[in-house]
Amino acid sequence: MAGTTAAVTVAAEGNGATCLLLEKGDNEYGGGNSQYSAGMISATNDYENALTYFKALRGENDTVSDEICEAHITALTEHADWLRSLGAGDDLVVSWETEDNDGYVPEYPELCPTQYFGRIRFNGEETGGFTHVQQFMVSKVKENSDTVTHLLGARALHLFQDSDTNEILGLTYEVDGKTVNAKANHGVIMCCGGFENNSEMLQNYHKSYGAHPLAGLCNEGDGITMCAEVKAHMWHMNGIAGFNNNFSTLDGSGFASNDGGAAIVHDLGIIVGTHGRRYYMEVGGYNNKKLTDDDLRVHVGHRHGDQNLGGMWMHQQLPPLSWYVFDQAAMDQGATKKLGDIDPVAEAWGYKDETIEGLASQMDVPAEELSKTIAHWNSLCEAGEDLAFYRPSDTLFPILQPPFYAMKMIPNFLNTNGGPERSAKGEILDLDRNPIPHLYGAGEFGSIWSDMYNGGGNLTECLAWGRISVRNCLGIA
Ligand SMILES: Cc1cc2nc3c(=O)[nH]c(=O)nc-3n(C[C@H](O)[C@H](O)[C@H](O)COP(=O)(O)OP(=O)(O)OC[C@H]3O[C@@H](n4cnc5c(N)ncnc54)[C@H](O)[C@@H]3O)c2cc1C
Repeated sequence: MAGTTAAVTVAAEGNGATCLLLEKGDNEYGGGNSQYSAGMISATNDYENALTYFKALRGENDTVSDEICEAHITALTEHADWLRSLGAGDDLVVSWETEDNDGYVPEYPELCPTQYFGRIRFNGEETGGFTHVQQFMVSKVKENSDTVTHLLGARALHLFQDSDTNEILGLTYEVDGKTVNAKANHGVIMCCGGFENNSEMLQNYHKSYGAHPLAGLCNEGDGITMCAEVKAHMWHMNGIAGFNNNFSTLDGSGFASNDGGAAIVHDLGIIVGTHGRRYYMEVGGYNNKKLTDDDLRVHVGHRHGDQNLGGMWMHQQLPPLSWYVFDQAAMDQGATKKLGDIDPVAEAWGYKDETIEGLASQMDVPAEELSKTIAHWNSLCEAGEDLAFYRPSDTLFPILQPPFYAMKMIPNFLNTNGGPERSAKGEILDLDRNPIPHLYGAGEFGSIWSDMYNGGGNLTECLAWGRISVRNCLGIA
């Protein structure tokens, strides 16, 4: 999305400039996350409200300047008109223009003055229009093939830098087994996503062991290495939309999809670790529609991987292996319906047993601990309040009726956010925080998201910073 936005901006506004759009994967929609996303794009027609909210989302993280926030929110006010200027029609749904806003509320309503934050999306199912923004953007890239050369299977490898001036002169890429050097007349815009498929970086930056990315197979952090070679400063390397516990087969070969959302609901049972104990508030979903007051410290929920930890919204680490434990009553209510109409035990997603002790033995967790955990859980359900992790009271289902079940859970995640730091003009900064001349960034690669995240915030960043970077690169800002 960042790359197609940058390319289309060159075509639409570049006064004859041309663009080489390199795509490592062999799919015209990209080998990253964009085409698999839910397609929700944050946008606004209320600059002041959105700016106040966006600044508040920085929380305790002071790495993102007010200037960056202002540039970002200005871009959000322009998205709908910009897409329409490119030809978007009725298939573009703009929340503040429609009566039905799909109940869209900010992810952190406690921090948003008006409790409302807009969004746009393509929703052309009925009209035969575009159903996803990346489809629309790729169609624009195709329409502009006179100015945009879109190469698939083309992997960028290294940047060329003038050793005296630090200017970026171009880059080397690999295509069809050949290495090609390309000169950049104006600059290079790095739009190569995150490092979802680089297990070494995930271990180093996220202490993530065995977490499963939902997409982003070509996103191996190449751009981070390329920018490190030219001494870019990195930021937000621990930023990630995740983790969520999700079903895995016992042998680790099968994973459940999370249907493109962050909210995975495991509210018919409990999740325990290999010690047989609960360790977090296991119910997915923002819970923000259940707000009774605006005190962020006391709310629970799962907001793109952040949870309430000690009154603050902190990144939720998850261990590589957990178990979702529930009883026959929960099974009858659809505890595993996400896996479809199957017998999850027969198809090796987990175990069942007539006794808790027998189940613990199959799970290889301490039987005494699991028994105590379940007895305690049942007492909380009876009392009607989870005073351990403050689960919403309408999710307190006891574990009473045999047989008992344990489904294997592993962490998965949507996308990383780390990469080179960028300025309010989209320039990538060096170790002294000076712009590296002619080098820019956009999208998830070196994202401006720092502390709390609002859904729709990554795609909007692709549109925003794709345009900002190109305009500054071409001197048309
Ligand atoms: C299931 C899911 C649902 C989501 N839903 C939403 C949503 O509704 N709203 C939202 O805002 N965000 C959503 N996100 C997050 C969002 O999809 C991403 O953050 C966003 O798409 C990132 O866009 P991007 O262009 O920066 O990177 P990507 O789309 O990941 O693109 C990066 C591109 O760079 C290419 N590349 C990588 N290395 C190289 C190289 N060396 N040379 C050449 N090319 C290279 C990759 O092949 C890829 O095509 C979702 C994510 C997932 C996984």
